[in-house]
Amino acid sequence: MVQSSVLGFPRMGALRDLKKATEAYWADKISQADLLAEGKRLRAAHWKIQKDAGVDIIPSNDFSYYDQVLDHIQLFGAVPERYTAQKLSPLDEYFALGRGHQKGGVDVPSLEMVKWFDSNYHYTKPTVTEGQTFTLAKDPKPVREFLEAKEAGIHTRPVILGPVSFLALGKADRGSSVDPISLIGKLVPVYVELLKALKAAGADNVQIDEPVLVFDLRPEVKAAFKPAYETIGSLGAAAPEIIVATYFGDIVHNFDVLPAFANLKGLHVDLVRNPEQLEPVIKQLGPKQVLSAGVVDGRNIWKNDFKKTLDILNTAISALGKERVIVATSSSLLHVPHTLANEKKLPEEVYQWFSFAVEKVREVAVLAKAVTEGTASVQSELDANAAAIKSRTESQRTNDPKVKERQSKVTPEMHNRKSAFDSRYAQQKKHLSIPIFPTTTIGSFPQTQEIRIQRNKFTKGEITQEQYDAFIRSEIDKCIQIQDELGLDVYVHGEPERNDMVQYFGERLEGYVFTTHAWVQSYGSRCVRPPIIVGDISRPAAMTVKESKYAASVSKKPMKGMLTGPVTCLRWSFPRVDVHQSVQAQQLALALRDEVIDLEKNGIYVIQVDEPALREGLPLRSGKERDAYLKWAVDSFKLSTAGVEDSTQIHSHFCYSEFQDFFHAIAALDADVLSIENSKSDAKLLKVFIDEAYPRHIGPGVYDIHTPRVPSEEEIKQRISEMLQYLKPEQLWVNPDCGLKTRTWDQVKPALTNMVNAAKAFREQHKA
Ligand code: GLN
Ligand code: ZN
Repeated sequence: MVQSSVLGFPRMGALRDLKKATEAYWADKISQADLLAEGKRLRAAHWKIQKDAGVDIIPSNDFSYYDQVLDHIQLFGAVPERYTAQKLSPLDEYFALGRGHQKGGVDVPSLEMVKWFDSNYHYTKPTVTEGQTFTLAKDPKPVREFLEAKEAGIHTRPVILGPVSFLALGKADRGSSVDPISLIGKLVPVYVELLKALKAAGADNVQIDEPVLVFDLRPEVKAAFKPAYETIGSLGAAAPEIIVATYFGDIVHNFDVLPAFANLKGLHVDLVRNPEQLEPVIKQLGPKQVLSAGVVDGRNIWKNDFKKTLDILNTAISALGKERVIVATSSSLLHVPHTLANEKKLPEEVYQWFSFAVEKVREVAVLAKAVTEGTASVQSELDANAAAIKSRTESQRTNDPKVKERQSKVTPEMHNRKSAFDSRYAQQKKHLSIPIFPTTTIGSFPQTQEIRIQRNKFTKGEITQEQYDAFIRSEIDKCIQIQDELGLDVYVHGEPERNDMVQYFGERLEGYVFTTHAWVQSYGSRCVRPPIIVGDISRPAAMTVKESKYAASVSKKPMKGMLTGPVTCLRWSFPRVDVHQSVQAQQLALALRDEVIDLEKNGIYVIQVDEPALREGLPLRSGKERDAYLKWAVDSFKLSTAGVEDSTQIHSHFCYSEFQDFFHAIAALDADVLSIENSKSDAKLLKVFIDEAYPRHIGPGVYDIHTPRVPSEEEIKQRISEMLQYLKPEQLWVNPDCGLKTRTWDQVKPALTNMVNAAKAFREQHKA
């Protein structure tokens, strides 16, 4: 029989129940016992969903109150001393690691949080020090949750993050320089103990995730698999059987690691991302090893194409036999929303195209049944699936001939500005009269309670469009008056009309649909609700001209138009899978190109196109795929911005300071001015701009907007002086790290006053 398996289920619940409970706990509104009870309720509900759907292998320990990697930090006793010293309860210590703790005289910042592979989920980075030890927690979570499920009548397969990935995804703690992977010998005994404890509790199978196998690995990391898995593999009947799981890429380039798994039950691979690895993987398996075939997409919301998937499964079965194939989700379902059932506002036609977690669980079970008992056993499901897939392929919504026609006419010249930077800049300087050390902001100003209230009223139909527009205009007036008082040089309108930098544009474009409850965990209790690209994208009407034009009309200084770039719009949405991402990016780019030109026509001569997601889209491994991405990502930015006159100034913004390995792509955008995050990093990072003789202008953030703290004028001057070691005075812009929407006016005003004064001091000095 072919078994069905789920690698992990989203934790939040259908209505973000876990978010609500954790935030209520943080706000002292519910007790620890209440929160734990809610966690237990959610785990039970999620197991039951999978059991009722007919899934054979149901995961446990996939639940987490904050982050699964963080769970392992506590599980292995790898909590830095500055946290254990606080003597908090285990749960409070756990949250302190994830989000910091400032209460009752305790003040510890959180551990670093970074993106999980190429997803928008963030995990907490484990930290280790010289002399690091690991010990298994008392009452280990995987055992506890296995027993909890067992008590509820559900036999589960616990999921644990593997020792190599745990270390390879970690880093040396501050002040330490130990290479985490060198600690593998110390960590493995803890796994041995844990696996034995799971076996004793009744677990017969365990899923050990080693997702780092999809990366290009350093030799030290590769070498760590052998000692780790030979030890684990030698446990025999003392431990449960083990499937090693990989996802988000192919593992063919790391096949030399596989002999280390010789004594394990089998391997899980992602066949959604990399179907071509099926055959080579089959060849690598030992004579009895099992293949867990990841065929139901854990990263996107499209309904599985059963016909195609059955072909893949049948290939695997004819090579290995039914007992050695498991039908599985490609990765944990953590990255998709909970259920489609609550979406009442989706157009009927598109509703049937999607599967969220609850629906995907059912897909896995149906596929397993189809290959075990024959397709006739699930004929009605297969028929319904085929009809849905057909409806999508043939839909008017997916295919817009006008968009295709326009794409066919894109020429290489359309990607280039008319003249080179020097000549452009000379014209911009005259046209815009911008001083040296120009000051500006990144776009948004505080999103006040009042703004949210009015937006809500408008969405609910309690105020008219005219009333709402008048309110937005009054907010813009306020922003401009404040910028007058502050004496900034290039103004912004403040973005009061925008709820979110991607959704706002999606709502104004053809080709997008929106959900009401389809939240996905981003980090901790934070969830995002990505819009969905369902068809060819076009712009029926101008999207931002009304607000920018109004702002320019009441402003004495140049007004900066503000757009979200094509790659960021794509990355922070659920993209289509029926056409390549480069095609979708180009469609977005063409829509934005029209917007850029319309802004220019309406008197907006400085236009910023934000691309904060450009870097996270970078394929996980270097090589052909990465080069191809960079090509189309850069091209789509250029296509969206290059339609303007030389005298119009194009800005772009990136919210990260790790641009060294990415420098060429950023330079290739040919933006006149770049603003980047820099206040938390060493100014030395800017050296790359000299080394590469970067000719254009740059505004490295002079202060961190992520904290309420107001930077002093002195600090900002200090920061600017440091930057001037690496950048020419005529190259440097003065701006904060990112948009100010999460701050309050009483933080923003003094911070910007100090920033403007600091810039003015440099301007004076430079004149002299
Ligand atoms: N213009 C946007 C803002 O200021 C940029 C946000 C971002 O980079 N994430 O809010
Ligand atoms: Zn930013």
